[in-house]
Order: sequence, then C-alpha cells, then structure tokens
Amino acid sequence: MGTTFHMVVYASSKQNADRAAQSAWARVDELNSILSDYDPNSELSRLSQMTNDGPMAAPVHVSDDLYRIIERSLEASRLSDGAFDITVGPFVRLWRRSRQLRELPTTQRVEEARKSYGYQYIRLDPQKHTVQLLAAHMRLDVGGIAKGYTSEEALKVMRLYNIDRALVGAAGDIGTGDPPPGKPGWAIRLESLGGDKEPPVYVQLKDHYAISTSGDTERFVIIEGVRYSHIVNPKTGLGLTDRIGVSVIAPNATTTDWASTAISVLGPEKGVEMIEKIPDAAARITMLVDGRIKVWESSRFHQFVVQPHE
Ligand code: AMP
Ligand code: MG
Repeated sequence: MGTTFHMVVYASSKQNADRAAQSAWARVDELNSILSDYDPNSELSRLSQMTNDGPMAAPVHVSDDLYRIIERSLEASRLSDGAFDITVGPFVRLWRRSRQLRELPTTQRVEEARKSYGYQYIRLDPQKHTVQLLAAHMRLDVGGIAKGYTSEEALKVMRLYNIDRALVGAAGDIGTGDPPPGKPGWAIRLESLGGDKEPPVYVQLKDHYAISTSGDTERFVIIEGVRYSHIVNPKTGLGLTDRIGVSVIAPNATTTDWASTAISVLGPEKGVEMIEKIPDAAARITMLVDGRIKVWESSRFHQFVVQPHE
C-alpha cells in the first residue's frame, strides 16, 4: 500500500503478544496483496485490468475483503456527493507522472482519463458477491480507504488472541482497541498544517475509536509555484491546490480513512456538514488562508480534546 504500518500491543505474556502480532502482520500482508495498486498482481489490479479492452462483459466473483471495501467506498461516494471516489485511479496515475516529470498533464490526457472515471460505473451484486466494471480502462484506487480497513482488520486478528489493548496505524490512519493499562484512553497528537507555529492539539481515543488525518504535508508536487496534493479533486482531475489538513475521529477506521480524504476534497463547510450526518463522528479541519491558519471543528470534536498531561 506504499506505507508503513505500526502496531502497539499490551499482553500478559511476550509469547502471546508475539503470536498475535505475527498473525496481525500476516493479515496486513494478505490485504496488501489484495488491495495494493502498486502491485500489478494484486486482486484489485487484476480486476481493473479486466477493463483494458473495454467494459467488462460479465460480473466476476471477488474476495470478501475486496467486495467489502468496494461496498464501503460506494457508500462513501454517496455520502460525500462523489468527493470520495475510488475510480480516480486514472487521475492518480497522471498525478504520479506529473510528480516525476514536474509538469501538469495536458487537458487532453485529463479528459481521456475522465472517460474511465465515475463510481456509477461500478456494479455490485450483494447476493452473488460479484463486481462488474462498466467503462473501459478503469483503474480502481483504494488508497484513501484501505489503510483504515487494514488497521481495523489487524485489530480483529489480535482480539482472536485475547489481546484487546492494542493500536494499529499506518501513516495517518490509526485504529485502537482498549487503552494501555492504567490509562483512560490513547492520547494522540494531531498533525497540523501550522507545524510548530500552532499549539499542539491532543485527542484521547477510547471505546475502540479511530482517527485519520489527511493532508498534503507528506505527498505533494510543486509545479510553477503551485502545490498539488496527492488527493485528487474529481472535478478538475488534478491534485488539490487548497492547503488543507483534516482529522476525523469515529468508531471505525475505515470510516475515518475515507471521510478525512473526502473532507479534504469537499472543503471545510461542506465537510463539517457531511461529518455531522455520520453517527458519532467528529472532524477538525485546518486551512491555510492568505498565510494564516483557519480552524473548523464539528460539534462533537471538543469531546475528544485533552491536555497533554491528562
Ligand atoms: P489519504 O492519504 O487517506 O487521504 O488518501 C489519499 C489517497 O487516496 C491518494 O494517494 C489516492 O490513492 C487516493 N485518492 C486520491 N484522491 C481521491 C479521491 N478524490 N477519492 C478517493 N480516493 C482518492
Ligand atoms: Mg483516507
């Protein structure tokens, strides 16, 4: 998935901790081999390749994991009014090319990519667990949701070993189990656009909540003085140019992962509106406006904020 996972495990014996972590790592590897878009042999890549010669003539059966992640992604597209859309693959490819060449794609290339974009081209059959892709040259990209899903799945594996006090995270996406011994929750410092200039914000996660942060602090390209994020605005087909950082907290890491990516595209006002509709979810958004940091918080966000010593 082009990222690094971390696990924190508390257990009564080292042996049990090792066994649980080993199985959880095996699950991460398994999901990588299904969901990676860097690996041309992943199940996801092979599915996309079935549109190389045109729309798929018939549905194909897929693994439970791939089915579930596509299902959650389509739900995310509907909730975010298309801001989150895993069919952005062709745009993401153009972005990766731009980053290498340091030049924007031509309008022609963007319009070409647009023909293979649109979540309405994905058809699922919940009874048969099949997928059919209805446009040519589609490239599904689950990079905005797979890390959260994988964190959640790794935590489930550890629970099979009776390990509940654990945390699994990949870059910006963190899922949690029960807190460390003697602690009320997991204290997490938010990464913000302001860097050291803004006072740090700490949140506390309990009840197996998750947190995701999206933004352009790590992956971006600057072309002619404009900074393009790795998150694509489907309307333009290009990387976002707004300087925005989004953290989402919710009971499930799959949700926090897609929602933080979606809000980056939607912007603060529509983003807050969306998160208020998702049960028990909260968001904090920072944006760089004329060189100054502006902050938006959804109504539930303050419930999670703590002072560092708490
Ligand atoms: P994240 O780091 O979770 O915000 O996800 C960013 C990744 O999601 C990108 O590297 C792409 O792989 C993918 N992506 C980019 N733009 C979108 C979008 N509009 N909807 C869904 N996924 C996207
Ligand atoms: Mg995401």
